Amino acid sequence: MTSAEDVMPFCICGCGGKTKGGSFIPGHDAKLKSILIKGVLEQTKVEALETLTPDECLVVLEERGWTKFLDKARDVASRPKKERRAASKEKNTSEAWDEYTRFKQAGERLKAIDRYYMKDTKLTLTKKNIGAVLDLSDEALKKITQEELDEL
Ligand SMILES: [Zn+2]
Repeated sequence: MTSAEDVMPFCICGCGGKTKGGSFIPGHDAKLKSILIKGVLEQTKVEALETLTPDECLVVLEERGWTKFLDKARDVASRPKKERRAASKEKNTSEAWDEYTRFKQAGERLKAIDRYYMKDTKLTLTKKNIGAVLDLSDEALKKITQEELDEL
């Protein structure tokens, strides 16, 4: 006895499911697409309805007019470099933020001992002397000259 299900075709993606007459269970075309793309990009055999070699994957992609998705995936696969750049940019941003925070803290210390505004006793903060400003005791910071500070 044949049930309706027996004549329903298997979904091409290889999931083992049956379609209602089409090639795919809804949404599984995307699944096959990514399986095929993986096969080509990683040059590996993949399992769909049958085992496909990278070349066969490419053929199916071409047959289905999916090569533009392959191109896009290739593009994404070549992107780690860009992402690394973005990540390092992010790192730079956080370093800049740390530096800004330290600068601000050092400025607060100088303000607290009146060496931030006062013209004659003003200490100028530089990237180099921030660490010293943050480390010195108030006493030392009150007495230190710009030259001494910059040499620390
Ligand atoms: Zn499927």
